Order: sequence, then C-alpha cells, then structure tokens
Amino acid sequence: MATEDRLRTYRGKRDFERTREPSGKAAASGGGEPRFVVQIHDARRMHFDFRLQVDDVLKSWSVPKGPSTDPGDKRPAVPTEDHPLEYEDFEGVIPKGEYGGGTVIIWDHGRYEPLSHDRRGRPVDFAESLEDGHATFRLHGAKLHGEYALTRFRTGQGEEDAWLLVRKGPARAGAHGTPDPRRARSVRTGRTLAQVAADDGQE
Ligand code: MN
Repeated sequence: MATEDRLRTYRGKRDFERTREPSGKAAASGGGEPRFVVQIHDARRMHFDFRLQVDDVLKSWSVPKGPSTDPGDKRPAVPTEDHPLEYEDFEGVIPKGEYGGGTVIIWDHGRYEPLSHDRRGRPVDFAESLEDGHATFRLHGAKLHGEYALTRFRTGQGEEDAWLLVRKGPARAGAHGTPDPRRARSVRTGRTLAQVAADDGQE
C-alpha cells in the first residue's frame, strides 16, 4: 500500500493547522535499519506509544503501562493508526481539544532487529509476521535493550484488536519494570512531561 493510503487514518484525525505533529508529507526515508520509538503521552489517559518502523510508516500501539523489562509482565497493547516516520522526532504539546490533546515526550528510541520466524525457525518477513499476529524483535535503544514480542490474542470484531507486549527471556533479578511516566525523562532533551508542557507555554 502506498504511504499516502497508509496515513489516511492518521491525517483524518488531525488538523495540521492546529497541531504541530508532522503531517507525513516529507519524503520518507525507508532505508537502513528499522527504527523504534517509545513516547509517553499524557492525554485523557496516560499511556506509552510504542512504534516500530515497518517500511515507510511507524506501526503503533498504545501501551497503558508501557514496555516492561521484566519477562514476567504481560503488557496490554492496543493498535493505533500508522504514523509517519517523522513522528519519531515529535515531542511537545498537542493542543487541548485536538485528537490526542496533551503532552508527548520521546522516552526511548533506537533501532531494532526483526527476529520473526516460523515454527521451524525459518525467518519470516516482519510485516507479514505482524499481520499474522506474532512478531519478535530485539531493541537497541538508549533504555530498552533485548528481545521483545508483540502477540495478538484477540482479533477485533466490533472491538479493538488486543495485543500483548512482552519481554522475552528468563526472569531477571533486579528487573524493575517501567519508570513512573511523570518522573520519566525524554531521551532527547532530558525533560519530564511537566517541563515540556511548561516550555510549550513559554513559546
Ligand atoms: Mn498516544
């Protein structure tokens, strides 16, 4: 599917005269190793947005509690619309009343290795594995490292699809889950949500 089509839902929800989120009109740079980003979004409900670059868009999930470093934690993840690649760089305030109104910080980012394989251990196309509802990958972020899986456990029929985001591997002593989103700091600017919100008001 062309990027224009894949971003139709994204664009349909937003008024780019009002929000400073990217419209995705810039030329997509799909080459190189795929990227991931985890944003913290202080919207109507606080959540983490987990995004993986697949071709020329960011496949996205809303993860209320955020990714955990503890393999014992199964984190519910609700798919959201594909986002443009430039969204990886978005940190700021979405105006009140707009879609997703609230403050966003870039909590972690980096590249990832697709690891999806079939039952016989043969590698499968990553985009295909997501469509089939089970993808594995290794994150190389500033904060998140190691292997994770995204698994769909309910296909939406009138309801939303439901997925789980889980850290793979043996349980580790000292794993401490996810930090408090209100105290967490941007990997880019070191700012908290409150600081980003305050800075926005001063512009
Ligand atoms: Mn969000």
